[in-house]
This record gives sequence, structure tokens and C-alpha cells, in this order.
Amino acid sequence: MSFIVFSYVWKPCHNSSQTSDFSCFTQVVIFKKYGVSGRAVVVGVANRTASGFKHHNSIFGVHAFIFGGGSGGSVLASRLSEDPDVRVLLLEAGSNEVEEPLAEIPALTSFLQRSDFDWKTKSEPGDGFCLAMSKKRCSWPRGKVLGGSSTLGNMIYTRGNKKDFDKWAQMGNTGWDFESVLPYFLKSEDNRNRFKAADKKFHSQDGYLTVSDPAFKSPLTLSFMASAAEMGYQIRDVNAENQTGFMLIQSTIRDGRRLSIAKAFLGPASGKENLQLSLNSLVTKLRFNSKKTKVIGVSYVKNGTTLSARAKGEIIISAGAVGTPGILLRSGIGPADHLEAMKIPVVRDAPVGKNLQDHIGICAMTFLAPNARGSSSNSNETDLRAEIFKFLNHGKGSMTSSGIEAIAFVNSKFADASEDFPDLQFQFIPGGVHVWKKWFTPLRSKRQWAVCSTLLRPESRGEIRLKSRNSKADLIILPNYFNSSKDLEILVDSFRIMFNLSQTAAFASVGSSPYEMPFPGCEELALFSDDYFRCFLRHAAQSMHDPVGTAKMGPKNDSTAVVDSKLR
Ligand SMILES: Cc1cc2nc3c(=O)[nH]c(=O)nc-3n(C[C@H](O)[C@H](O)[C@H](O)COP(=O)(O)OP(=O)(O)OC[C@H]3O[C@@H](n4cnc5c(N)ncnc54)[C@H](O)[C@@H]3O)c2cc1C
Repeated sequence: MSFIVFSYVWKPCHNSSQTSDFSCFTQVVIFKKYGVSGRAVVVGVANRTASGFKHHNSIFGVHAFIFGGGSGGSVLASRLSEDPDVRVLLLEAGSNEVEEPLAEIPALTSFLQRSDFDWKTKSEPGDGFCLAMSKKRCSWPRGKVLGGSSTLGNMIYTRGNKKDFDKWAQMGNTGWDFESVLPYFLKSEDNRNRFKAADKKFHSQDGYLTVSDPAFKSPLTLSFMASAAEMGYQIRDVNAENQTGFMLIQSTIRDGRRLSIAKAFLGPASGKENLQLSLNSLVTKLRFNSKKTKVIGVSYVKNGTTLSARAKGEIIISAGAVGTPGILLRSGIGPADHLEAMKIPVVRDAPVGKNLQDHIGICAMTFLAPNARGSSSNSNETDLRAEIFKFLNHGKGSMTSSGIEAIAFVNSKFADASEDFPDLQFQFIPGGVHVWKKWFTPLRSKRQWAVCSTLLRPESRGEIRLKSRNSKADLIILPNYFNSSKDLEILVDSFRIMFNLSQTAAFASVGSSPYEMPFPGCEELALFSDDYFRCFLRHAAQSMHDPVGTAKMGPKNDSTAVVDSKLR
């Protein structure tokens, strides 16, 4: 049996490309033309959703089945249905974001997490990570909604590093080098910043994905940029020729409102006769012919009823780095020992769910800025009602910002600075990330700033496994953060860079100083020593929400690969 993983080139991940062998790409698995002659199965009543998509009516004559309507699935459905002769059916476990007006307001992004649009998954506890989280389990938000995780996302528009793409190609994945994928970035992009758009080699204004500069910038963000310039960092477009440097954020925001990938790509496709959606449809497993050589259909649960459909044509699995292995494992495609332990008949022994990589990062290092002036997004001082009023009536104010107002790609002492292949990403927050009550309570009503520091290419590898055969049971997420001590040391070094920035004249002018309350659990260690930072990281570092790698792409001789470079 062969099958295809399709990786969509919107961007590898918001924290840049993550790994040397498989990066933050959307994961989509396509089972190639295994269909049998189609039997029409009517499982719904034709109607249109609020945004005009045609609802699932019948699978008769469908050429492409897409399982998972997140970032990857939305783009595929949109692009495949551009050909009027191709009938596309998209099955999505969640509902439609247009039902939630909050989804429009950039600053309220985090309210969507832990809502019905979120699978609300958590990682399994480990000894050396997520120690300050409830039951030592880190939150792993994932979109369960049309648009998938892009509907919950922070809207940051960044691309992967050229070298990551080139490395994929060098590893035998033909067609994945940067020059080959760049045209797809351009095809997707609608950059509303005319200065950036003028650089036609790297930007375009012709695509569906609007990218713009948020209308609001906190004065503290300008201090951050000035501090970078003072230290000799480049201020540049990090999505162009070079990545190392600092940039005011560009976001997937259109006319001041959040733009999920579903809105961007399925919006223009709404009303097409050849594109049908079936929402609230949880794909449970693939069905095979008796010889187990062909996929002939799918089982799914819709509104509490288990349905099965015979499928003809392409079957595309685009359920994300957690959902995709979930479907494959339940279908009998995965590590034989794990499937046997779960009493699932093995269809194909493959390393599905292995090679899990996630961006680990920390947002808790906070600096006080008592002399900062002007209002600030992401601050307790913001008068929420006034800001919402300003947003609704004028499309202005701090509600137009996600709270992350600048990003930077920087080299730790472990990176080769001559290479333009930075190993850290910073996200600047002109406020605080108030998670632990005891620790953060003294910070309330104080002016402050923080940097989320993210490790871009972790060496640690985790795994996704089934908890049980039950399709509704949570999956087991074993991230194994900091299994490689180098991952920890790179992040330790990131504090040195943050502290250096905080000591520039730009930050001195706002009275910047580090918040000095020792983090609970690390009180015994000398404050801001390397050992303190190691402890701080093991307690407070968190997923930065970019899991990848669980259906790895690679050539035939790569025993860790699940699919080839054509994603089959
Ligand atoms: C909180 C958060 C913030 C983020 N911020 C940013 C950002 O600012 N910038 C950025 O570039 N990236 C960001 N990301 C990452 C980005 O959203 C993901 O990399 C991207 O959405 C992955 O695309 P995907 O299609 O692989 O998966 P997803 O977008 O997660 O889509 C998978 C879809 O499959 C569906 N699904 C899963 N299982 C099944 C099943 N069994 N049956 C049917 N449907 C199923 C899900 O409901 C979901 O809709 C963020 C992610 C999160 C969670």
C-alpha cells in the first residue's frame, strides 16, 4: 500500500521552521485512488452554512475526500474545487467559526482556547517539563473548528528558514527546497504593507491570505525595536532574503479582523456546487478492501450517529499533527507493537506518531517598566470596554493587536551566526502573561513587558499514541521536552539575550528591570543563575503550539518516514 502526505505551504509554523528533517508543515495524508465504484450514500440534507458553504449531501461522484478542515484541509478544499470537474467533500470534526463573533477580534484570540472550538488536549506528565502546570500536563490547544488551529491562532505571519526547506530536499525530498516552495507562499499571500509588497521576489498581493500590520503598536514595542537596533541587530523583513533580525509583527488580519485559513481560502470557494462540507463529523477510521491493499471508505460519527461511506477517488487526511496519527493508528497503520497492544489489526507497520516535535518556549520572564508611557495591549491597565468600543466603531485601538507586537529571530551562543539559521525566536509582549496567580499577583497594575522565547529546532523527539481503541478517547501526547539537554541550554542562553536587551538605553529610559520574585519551585537557586533558569524552564516552559512530524516525509531508505516526498 502506498499513500501520500500532502504538506501545504502556507508557512511551516509561526515560530519559523522547527526541525531539520520534518518541520512545522501542516500534515495531510492522501490515499491515492484506492476507490471502488461509488455507491451513493445520502447522509445529510443539502443546505448552506451561515457563510454559504454547501453542506454535505451525498458522496455520489466525489473525487476528493478531505478529512480535517484546518489550515491544510481548507486550502486543499479551496484549490481542488477550483476545477469545476472535481467534486470535493470535506469532513471536519468541529463546527464553523462564523458562529462565534469573538473569533473576529484579534486581541481576544486566547478566549477561543478552551472553548468548544478547542480539542482541549494536554500532554502527558514527565519528570523534567511542565512542572508548574496542573498535574504537570502542558496545555495543547488545537482547533476543532473549520480553519482548525488557525482559527485559534495568534495570527503571526512568518515563514520557515530557507535552510530548513533546502535540508528537506537534501534528505531526498525532491521539490521541497526553498526555491521550489516560494511560489506557493507568493500564490497564497495578499500583503497589505505596500513597502513589503514592493519586494516582489518574496511577497505578493494576489493571494487569498491577507497579511497586514496591526493598526496598534504599544510604545513599549518601539522600545523593544530600539533596544535591538542599539545592540546591533538587523531590523528587517524576516520573511524575505534573510531571517536573522527583528520585525514589527505582520499578522493574518484583514480590515482589522482576524482571518483564519478557512475564511481566507474557503470564503472565496463558498457557494461552489462542487464543494461540500460535512461539519461535526469525526472521522474514526479508514476502511479497507478484504486484502487490506486499498482504502475503500471511511467511518465517521456525525451528531452522535456512526456512519460509514464508501469512497471513490483521492482520500486526503489533513487532521493535524495529532489528529492525523489518531486516524491512521485507529485504522491499523502504525507501529505494529502498539497496534497489537491496542488489539487493532495491523494493516501496515509504519512509524506513525513517532518523531513528534514541538516548539517549546517560555513567556514568563517578565520585566518591569515603571516609566513606560501610553497605553499598551496585553496589559491589565487597558480599559477593555473602551477598547472594544473603539474596535467596533472605528476598527482601531489595542483590540486590533493579538498582544504579540514584534518578533525576532536570534542566534543563541550555540548557533553559527554567519549562517542566517537562527535557533531562537522571540515574540515581544508589551504586557505580561499572567498564568500563576501567586507569582503574578504582585505584577498586577504594574507596567511590564515580556518576551516569549521559543526553541526553533528541538532535538527532543516525542510520540503520539492511542489511549484506547475508542475513537472518542483522548490521544496520548508524550512530548519528551528537554530529553536533549541542548534544547534546555539554548533556552537558558535566550535569557542572557533578553537581559542584554533589557539593559539598553532604550529600555533604561522606561526604567526596565527584571521581575525578581523567584519562581515557585526554584527558590533555593541563585536568582537568574543558569541553574535557576534551567529550573524555571522545567517548570514554566510550555508548548508554543506547533507540533509536527508524526507522519514524516522521507525517501524509501528512511525507516523513520511514513510517506514519500509526494506525500503518498
Ligand atoms: C493556540 C495556537 C496559536 C497558533 N498561532 C499561530 C500563529 O500565530 N501563526 C502560525 O503560523 N501558526 C500558528 N499556530 C500553528 C498553526 O495554527 C498550525 O501549524 C496549523 O493550523 C496546522 O495546520 P493543520 O491543517 O496541520 O492542522 P489544524 O489546523 O489543527 O487542522 C486540523 C483539523 O482537523 C480536524 N480533525 C482532527 N481530527 C479529526 C477527525 N478525526 N475527524 C475530522 N476532523 C478532524 C480538526 O478539528 C482541525 O480542524 C498556532 C496554533 C495554535 C494551537
